Amino acid sequence: MGAGTVGKPIIEGHHVTKDYRSADGRLTRALDGVDVAFYEGQITLLIGPSGCGKTTLLNIIAGFEQASSGWVSENGLPITSPHPRRGVIFQDPNLFPWLTIWENLMFGPEVRGEDLAVAGKRGEDLLAMVGLTKFRSHYPHQLSGGMRHRIAIIRTLANGPDILLADEPFTALDEHTRRKIQQDFYGIVARTQKTVLFVTHNIEEAIYLADRMVVMSPSPGRIKQIVDIDLPRPRDILDLRFNDYRSLLFNLITPDVVE
Ligand code: ADP
Repeated sequence: MGAGTVGKPIIEGHHVTKDYRSADGRLTRALDGVDVAFYEGQITLLIGPSGCGKTTLLNIIAGFEQASSGWVSENGLPITSPHPRRGVIFQDPNLFPWLTIWENLMFGPEVRGEDLAVAGKRGEDLLAMVGLTKFRSHYPHQLSGGMRHRIAIIRTLANGPDILLADEPFTALDEHTRRKIQQDFYGIVARTQKTVLFVTHNIEEAIYLADRMVVMSPSPGRIKQIVDIDLPRPRDILDLRFNDYRSLLFNLITPDVVE
């Protein structure tokens, strides 16, 4: 769908507040009355300095955690627990080492008792999309780190989610692999038309991927600004307009880091 075109809100946060109590009894307000909407078919990046509540918000949307007050909804219905419609991509690919790539892809659909003909077709298409069909009978340790990340992405998609939630999935990768995976990730998402909520603290990654950015600020975690990224695809990190966004985002985020 892209920037500037607003579809319908698929995920909404309604005045979401989250407090954590630490072991010494101190209260941390990780999110403070967050009102936010994420739109169907868009890639939205959650960005902000460490501790501004990005992971907390994503975990509440995933259904892993509950808000202390307020609520999150998917298509208007409250989210109270995880659901395969919201697929999560973690930082660690976490593939099962004793299963082949194909068995890893089919694990989720099998456990949920999905029609394996349907899931198998989806899995075949996804493997072909990332150019790894010939590795289907390999085990994870026989693949490179970049390949394992690609498999982790399509394993989540093999479960047929509408929404992808990703929490700094590429942070541990070296620069070169990371750029390649970002390109692959965008390609997969564009072809499968998924709605994406993606957490990062990396400005360049955010500008490369985002249709729209939700910029957050810490102590307590709040939404600071929404920024639409209006750049043609594929994006070029050396483009002057890319650089304009880099400066804008840097200025939005840096004061919160040094405060
Ligand atoms: P971000 O993802 O932006 O780095 P987080 O959502 O991880 O931010 O954390 C927001 C705030 O909540 C931080 O101050 C963090 O220390 C605190 N926090 C997160 N999880 C917990 C937890 N389980 N217990 C106590 N405090 C937490």
